Amino acid sequence: MRLVLVGPPGAGKGTQAQYIASNLSIPKISTGDIFRANVSGGTDLGRLAKTYMDRGDLVPDEVTIAMVRDRLSEDDAQDGFLLDGFPRNVAQAEILRDMLKDWGQALDLVLELVVDDDEVVRRLAGRRTCSQCGRIWHVEFDDKKDDKCDACGGPLFQRDDDKEQTVRHRLEVYQEQTAPLVSYYADEGILVGVDATGPVEEVTQRAMEAIRPFMG
Ligand SMILES: [Zn+2]
Repeated sequence: MRLVLVGPPGAGKGTQAQYIASNLSIPKISTGDIFRANVSGGTDLGRLAKTYMDRGDLVPDEVTIAMVRDRLSEDDAQDGFLLDGFPRNVAQAEILRDMLKDWGQALDLVLELVVDDDEVVRRLAGRRTCSQCGRIWHVEFDDKKDDKCDACGGPLFQRDDDKEQTVRHRLEVYQEQTAPLVSYYADEGILVGVDATGPVEEVTQRAMEAIRPFMG
């Protein structure tokens, strides 16, 4: 099973990627993990990527693509994989398609986690971070009524990333970048949307049901 997972910030994509990959016994391949592995392993690509990241610049597409190609060539990815964070745009999707084609492979499915914007805002803007131990609490889901950490008593604050205005902006950026990608895969006939609201286990279950018809 070769699949790509897409979804907005706050959709629980990282968690679902892990559960789905483990249910399917395939490696979860995220661009974040690939970057970290290359940088900490001191590979040529890792060193190159680091020069951009150290300057606060985006790592260029060709570096990301080369890292993804290396990772997908590894033994554990030959019978399937779940990609998280790649492709990000249609150009990358076309490169991925050609890359797999060269290897006699193709994507089976693109799973889109669907959550409406207000739900994402509710999830993210309710987060409070402990300035002492870094633990994250949620005003609603953890029923936090004071602004002190239950673990260490430290003061809680709202990260800039979690402020409603920032969350809404991130959602807009996501929609702009991802809408063309989603319609590209819809045209290919391999896009399936999964409702990503509700408990984590229920979302995983829905995802597995959506995947089943695409399994060999
Ligand atoms: Zn704390």
